[in-house]
Amino acid sequence: MKKVRPKTSRRRAKLTAGAAVNGQMAPPTLCPLCHRPMIPGPSLDQHHPVPKSRGGCETVMMHKICHRAIHAMLSERELAEEFADFARLRAHPTLAQFIAWVKKRPPEYFDRTRWSKERRFK
Ligand SMILES: [Zn+2]
Ligand SMILES: [Zn+2]
Repeated sequence: MKKVRPKTSRRRAKLTAGAAVNGQMAPPTLCPLCHRPMIPGPSLDQHHPVPKSRGGCETVMMHKICHRAIHAMLSERELAEEFADFARLRAHPTLAQFIAWVKKRPPEYFDRTRWSKERRFK
């Protein structure tokens, strides 16, 4: 049976639903990738350590910029099979470069540029 994807903005709906989940007061948390503090607001995003397409339903809060970097550099398959934990992600050579770069940015920093494997972090 073939699944038909409606062309409506499902992504937007998902993001809104996700934002309402974290209503409880939590102590300042550190991003699992870069270990900088996470400031509630638009600089944060939710990541599925096991992609939804593989049955994962757990989410982890992290910086939007760190989240983008992970998905720009690794495929869902690589994430599911080799990089499901953050210790491994931090050991990835390109992500290690990214972490060193992002540590010099303010905790709420994010930009809209497209990430790519070729990007150099200075
Ligand atoms: Zn981060
Ligand atoms: Zn993700």
